[in-house]
Amino acid sequence: MSHPHPELGPPPPLPEGGLRVVPLGGLGEIGRNMTVFEHAGRLLIVDCGVLFPEETQPGVDVILPDFTWIRDRLDKVEAVVLTHGHEDHIGGIPYLLRERRDIPVVGSKLTLAFVAAKLKEHKITPATIEVAEGVRRGFGPFDLEFVAVNHSIPDGLAVAIRTAAGLVLHTGDFKMDQFPLDERITDLRAFARLGEEGVDLFLTDSTNAEVPGFTTSERDLAPAIEEVFRTAPRRIIVSSFASHVHRIQQVLDAAHHHGRKVAFVGRSMVRNMGIARDLGYLQIPKGLVVDLKALEKLPDTKITLICTGSQGEPMAALARMANRDHMIRVGDGDTVLLASSLIPGNENAIYRVINALTRWGANVVHKGNAKVHVSGHASAGELVYCYNIVRPSNVMPVHGEWRHLTANAALAIRTGVAPDRVVLAEDGVVVDLVDGRASISGKVPAGLVYVDGMTVGGATEASLQDRRTLAEGGFITIVALVDADTGALTEPPDFLARGFVHDDTTFTSVVPIIERVLAKAAQEGIGEPHQLEQLILRAVSRWARDLYRRAPIIVPIVIEA
Ligand SMILES: [Zn+2]
Repeated sequence: MSHPHPELGPPPPLPEGGLRVVPLGGLGEIGRNMTVFEHAGRLLIVDCGVLFPEETQPGVDVILPDFTWIRDRLDKVEAVVLTHGHEDHIGGIPYLLRERRDIPVVGSKLTLAFVAAKLKEHKITPATIEVAEGVRRGFGPFDLEFVAVNHSIPDGLAVAIRTAAGLVLHTGDFKMDQFPLDERITDLRAFARLGEEGVDLFLTDSTNAEVPGFTTSERDLAPAIEEVFRTAPRRIIVSSFASHVHRIQQVLDAAHHHGRKVAFVGRSMVRNMGIARDLGYLQIPKGLVVDLKALEKLPDTKITLICTGSQGEPMAALARMANRDHMIRVGDGDTVLLASSLIPGNENAIYRVINALTRWGANVVHKGNAKVHVSGHASAGELVYCYNIVRPSNVMPVHGEWRHLTANAALAIRTGVAPDRVVLAEDGVVVDLVDGRASISGKVPAGLVYVDGMTVGGATEASLQDRRTLAEGGFITIVALVDADTGALTEPPDFLARGFVHDDTTFTSVVPIIERVLAKAAQEGIGEPHQLEQLILRAVSRWARDLYRRAPIIVPIVIEA
């Protein structure tokens, strides 16, 4: 396997006829997937998603890929291809289109419908091009062919990219469910045909590469869902991803079978299920779905609610129900079904919600105590099948943290791909396909770009460090009036603190320290307020650390009187 060298610099110019592949997100992390392909002076983007922040990134709404590398060449972008409609593949589109409105957005019917609904909220009308499996279409020097793949959202596509440099196959997110609800399986015959033609570079989903065997079928969840509907004594409240159309279809079928009515709760759930129904991806028996007002008039045994918030998101319906901050009051005898994954990093939030619901008397059924979730990603067995069918010359694992990428690389090697043709890259690492050989050629910027309220990129790693420091130590402001001539305090300094535990006498002991610092500065001829502030900052930091074992944010303000 070839690893990125830690001291990689900017890549040399791309050799003529070569293809450059630059992952700007999704490699070394789960989320914000975005890959840029460069050939003959033109660019093609595959996916543009967001990453959700962790608890150590307070105040961040979402995290975007870094567009720096393409920002001054956006006019060269032929299209952005969306493999499917998940947030970690489409969530960055509004921010990309803000930088150039008319980039053609290419995707399947459902993917485009989801992205258009999202863009409407940003008041952007995209230039869309709808494609489907089997379609072959050129975008500048990129000749694209779309292949059906099965995933945890309908209408997913892999994309084959033909250029003069060779044939690339990018799976997007996929698995190989042989019995999907829509009977649209991953098209291995197309994978085989492309393999016969000769796949020069295979980019494949690493998310579940560590999981042995095969991902079980979505249909295997039916018994556990059925059990919930058969035994629930009162209302049933189901939480799932607002994009998991087939999971929700199974819940609708069970509700219908047991004579219950259903209402959708939560903005994204109502919106997406409306889209999926209108486009024929969700089959709703007549009269099954009613609005919330009509549902509430029914006896509890007839009620099913389907809502958002399966990841414990504080503003989503489920967390608000758990906090008694929602018109639906979960109580004794209610059953809550979390028909969803537990995304790493969200555990604390999810268990908080489960505990609160349990405390109100609900029976919470989740993947920890019932078979109510299957993954949307191919396990090791499926990945190995794909390698053996495609027989690629070069492999580049995508979509995953380092452990996932490495496990996927090892699978490729086990199937006979030469180790020096398996390229392990991370965000920003440049991979060039030249003369049929893929290799790492450099590195471009690919930092985390934070969306914080209305600002993009305004919050930096430094501001997050400040927020973490504030959370740990609070802050202290010191206002010191000094005599412009002598440099001495004209009156005792004022202290203002938040989050730093203090009382009336806390700051008494630091006043003489500040006086000494100012006296010493005067002796040395230091009188600039900014310089004095730095000296006070250092002295007060040391005082807080030594006496209180805390590192608050300290903001000294020196005013010349
Ligand atoms: Zn996905």
